[in-house]
Amino acid sequence: MATREDIRERLEELREKVRYHNRRYYVEDSPEISDAEYDALYRELESLEAKNPDLITPDSPTQRVGAEPLEEFEEVRHAIPMLSLSNARKTEDLYEWDARIRRLLGEEEASRLRYVTELKIDGLAVSLRYENGVYTLGATRGNGIVGEDVTANLRTVRSIPARLSEDELKAPEVLEARGEVYIPLEDFEELNRRQEAEGKRPFANPRNAAAGSIRQLDPKIAASRPLTIFLYGVGESSLEFESHSESLDTLSKYGLRVNPYEVHDDIESVVEECRRWAKKRESVGFQVDGVVVKVDSLEQQRALGTVQKAPRWAIAYKFEPLAGRTKVKEIFVHVGRTGALTPQAVLEPVNVGGVTISRATLHNEDYIKEKDILVGDTVVVERAGDVIPQVVRPVVEERSGDEYAFEMPKECPVCGEPVFRPEGEAITRCVNARCPAQALEHIIHWASKDAMDIEGLGEKLATKFFDLGLIRDPADIYELEAEQLVPLEGFGEKSAENLIRAIERSKEQPFDRVLYALGIRHVGAVTAQLIAERFSGEDLLKGMEVEKLAEIEGIGEVVAKAVVEYFELEDNRALVERLMKLGLNFGSVEQKPAEGPLAGKRIVITGTLSQPRSEIAELIERAGGTVTSSVSRNTDYVLAGEEAGSKLERASSLGVPVLDEAAFEELLSG
Ligand SMILES: [Zn+2]
Repeated sequence: MATREDIRERLEELREKVRYHNRRYYVEDSPEISDAEYDALYRELESLEAKNPDLITPDSPTQRVGAEPLEEFEEVRHAIPMLSLSNARKTEDLYEWDARIRRLLGEEEASRLRYVTELKIDGLAVSLRYENGVYTLGATRGNGIVGEDVTANLRTVRSIPARLSEDELKAPEVLEARGEVYIPLEDFEELNRRQEAEGKRPFANPRNAAAGSIRQLDPKIAASRPLTIFLYGVGESSLEFESHSESLDTLSKYGLRVNPYEVHDDIESVVEECRRWAKKRESVGFQVDGVVVKVDSLEQQRALGTVQKAPRWAIAYKFEPLAGRTKVKEIFVHVGRTGALTPQAVLEPVNVGGVTISRATLHNEDYIKEKDILVGDTVVVERAGDVIPQVVRPVVEERSGDEYAFEMPKECPVCGEPVFRPEGEAITRCVNARCPAQALEHIIHWASKDAMDIEGLGEKLATKFFDLGLIRDPADIYELEAEQLVPLEGFGEKSAENLIRAIERSKEQPFDRVLYALGIRHVGAVTAQLIAERFSGEDLLKGMEVEKLAEIEGIGEVVAKAVVEYFELEDNRALVERLMKLGLNFGSVEQKPAEGPLAGKRIVITGTLSQPRSEIAELIERAGGTVTSSVSRNTDYVLAGEEAGSKLERASSLGVPVLDEAAFEELLSG
C-alpha cells in the first residue's frame, strides 16, 4: 500500500517531469520524449490527482484551466508603464536615430554603445508577474499605464510556466516579464479551419485571433486556442541587471520563452540585420512586422530617458506591408460543411512578397458591398498575417465602366437547392442536409484530429471514398470493410487493415468528441464537453428544451437553440441512431467532482493578508473552492485583508459575505 507521503512524492515527481518536458517542448522547442511518452506521464499525473484531489496544487501543470468565467476584467495598473515604440520606416531613420543617441550620450559613452535587435511580433503585449517563482498576475498592456487582469487566460498558455524553473538560479521575490502572446501561422490556419467547421466566422489574422482569445471572459476558450508567447523584456523586478541582453538571458534561465536576439556593435550591423529579416520574414512561422532595436546598456537607457511615452533608447524598424495590385477576374462561391456560402475572388496571379496569389476570400456579401468591390476591378491585395490574402480596396480610379457587381446566387452552386440568409446574420447558407458539399466536409471534420481522430482518414482519402460512393455520411465510415479497400489504388492488405483498426479505435472516443464531430452549428469542442457533462445522447434525442440547455454555464441561447434544432431534424436523428447502433459512445461524460469544506465555492481574495496569496489560493483550491479575480453576484465570499479596496466595496454593495482571516480559517476547518 502506498502511503500518503508516497503519493505526495510521486505527484511532485510527476509534476517536475511534466514541467520539464513542457519546457523542452513549448519553450525550448526540443522535446526529449515522444508525444506518447509525454501523454503517459501526464495521464498518470491526472489520474493520481483525480484519486487524491486534496493533493492538487494550483501550480500543477494539470491546473491550467482552473478558473471560472469572469463577468468583467479587473484593471491592473502597471508598476512601470509599458511604453510604446517610435517607428523607423526607412533605414535612413535608423541612421538618424543612432546619430541622435550618440549626440545625447557624448563621445565617451557612445564608444561603449551596443544595440540589441529582435523580431517585432505582431501579437498582443502582456506582462507576467512571478512572486517567489510563482505566477501570480497576467495583464494586457492596455493603454500602457492601465491594462486588464487576464491572469486565468494567460495561465492556459502552455509556454507560460506556472512556476519559474530554479534549475540554474533561485527565483527572485518579484519578476515581471513582458512579451507578446501570438498564434503561429500554421496553428492559425488550423484554428480557422476549425472555426469554419463549427460554423463560426474565421479570424481575419493571427493578431486578432490572439488578442480576442486573451480577452475572453471564459478561460476555457483561451485554453482551446493555440496561443504561445515570446518574452522580450523585464518590468518590475527585485533583480538588478546591467544590460537588456543580460535580463533576457536571465528570463531564459528561469524557463521562460525568450524572443531570440542579436547584439550589434554599430548601426551598420543593425541595418544589415533589418534588411536580412525583411527578406526572410516569411520563414519565421509567425506574423512579424518589423525589427525592434534597443540600446543594450540599462545605464545608457536611463540616461537617454523617455519622451512622450516612447523611450529614446528603442525604435521599431517596420517592414513594408506585403501588398500588391491585381485584377478580380471573377467571384465564385464556395460551400462549406455547415452550408455557409463564401464568396471567393479569383485574381489574376500576382506575386506578393514571394508568394503568388490567385485567390482571396471575400468573407460574405456585406464585406463585398462595404468594400465596394466589383468583378473586373483592379484591387489592392495584402497578405494579412503575411499568409492569408485579403482584398483591401478597389482602385476606383482605374475603373473602365465594364465592372459589375457580384450577386449572391439564389441557389446552392453544389446541390441547386435554394439558399437563405437568416435575419441579422452575414452568412448565406444552403440548408439542405443532403447537400454533397456539406456531406463531404462533414466526413472530413468527423475524422479530424480534434473530433474522432481517425488516423489515416484525411481530406484526400475521405474525398476519394466519397467520390467512389463508399461513404456518404459519418456512419458509413464504420461500415467500411477491409476487403472493399484492398483493391483500391494505394491500398494493400496491411494499410487497409490499419485503417479499419483506426476506425474501430475511434469508437472509443467519449461522447463529447462524438457531439463535437456531429458538426452542430456553434458547437465547438469546449461547448460539446459542457453539454456532454450534463446530458447523454439519449437525453438529447428525447427532446430537450432550449431553456434547460441554456442553464448550463457557458452555453448561451443561440448555442442551445442550434443543438435543439439539430436533434429535431429527421435526417439528423436517423444518423445519430445509426451511430448509436454502431457502438459509438453517447453516454454523458464525467465531471470532476469538487470535495472539501469549500466545495463549489467561489472566493475572491483582496487586500494584504498574513500569508502570500498563492498559498491562500492553494488552501482554497485544496478545500474544493475556486479563486476568482473579480467580485460578482456569483461570488460566495470575499476574503479581505488589510487595505482592501474597491473589491470590498463591491462586495458590500452586492451583499457578498466578507471574511477576515479568522473567519476564513474557521470555514476551512469545516
Ligand atoms: Zn447545397
